[in-house]
Amino acid sequence: AKSAGGDSSAIYDVRMTGRATGRLDLESDLRLALDRNELSLNYQPIIDVSTEGAVGFEALLRWHHHEHGPIMPDAFIPIAEETGMILPIGTWVLREALRQVQQWRTQVPGAENFTAAVNISGRQLVAGDFPDVVEAAIRDTGIDPAAIHLEITETVLMDQPDLPKETLQRLARLGVGLSIDDFGTGYSSLSYLKWLSARTLKIDRTFVEELGADPHGATIIELVLGMAESLRLDVVAEGVETAVQLGELRRLGVRLAQGYLWSKPLPAERIPAWLRSHPAN
Ligand code: C2E
Ligand code: CA
Ligand code: CA
Ligand code: CA
Repeated sequence: AKSAGGDSSAIYDVRMTGRATGRLDLESDLRLALDRNELSLNYQPIIDVSTEGAVGFEALLRWHHHEHGPIMPDAFIPIAEETGMILPIGTWVLREALRQVQQWRTQVPGAENFTAAVNISGRQLVAGDFPDVVEAAIRDTGIDPAAIHLEITETVLMDQPDLPKETLQRLARLGVGLSIDDFGTGYSSLSYLKWLSARTLKIDRTFVEELGADPHGATIIELVLGMAESLRLDVVAEGVETAVQLGELRRLGVRLAQGYLWSKPLPAERIPAWLRSHPAN
């Protein structure tokens, strides 16, 4: 399996096993995973590259299967989306992430303004009650809506031409931010950027990987930065692994980043210690 930071090689095997023993098992187990408390969230810091301190966290879903052990999201989110299980799971993710980040905001010194980035699937976005789910989560957790970033992949936006505009308007009225995830991988017309009032573009890791190695590696990122500036969007560079990449991103003027260079996604209980060992410069 491709090395992606330690915990993914087991996943590859599980996915293969899952396929061999029948994906139906995985499917029915996923229905029970929530009740069995097998789902959890890991948190990866989003870094201000000028201080190298955290400004917030992205919540990333993990499934600890009672027999197979850890299963990574790429192996089960597609099943959750096909079966509709992503709706209850996605609601749980949103509420749990907002609860956790709000706890840090209120209890950890220096974390008062931390943002919470939560991945949202297309199925959730087109479900009519999504804005109600978000509104209830804001009310129940007490978090400032402006601290919330809902991450939606560029491909989801392309695949949902009839994305309910009313949903997006209601989310905008609630004051939550939208981030376009995996930006640059969709080969889309970008026309959606005009009507979708996004706040952030997340540059896909594949472009960051080329920095320093490929002489043209910076070209796409420069284009995205130019566009983001004229549309007044923030930019987050994903998957930063090396100091060379960080240097290049700084040179290009990228202000926010995420990646193994600072931290893998960690269980919530490890975040306070990580914060103490990574004070802003
Ligand atoms: P994503 O939203 O693009 O998340 C970034 C992925 O890159 C994460 O993989 C993260 O662990 C990984 N990553 C972060 N930094 C680095 C790095 O420096 N190098 C490398 N090689 N990888 C890095 P993960 O956690 O396996 O998640 C995969 C995808 O699953 C996510 O991609 C997202 O699309 C989806 N996902 C995760 N959690 C959720 C969720 O709660 N709901 C939904 N709908 N999708 C989720
Ligand atoms: Ca994401
Ligand atoms: Ca991404
Ligand atoms: Ca991705």
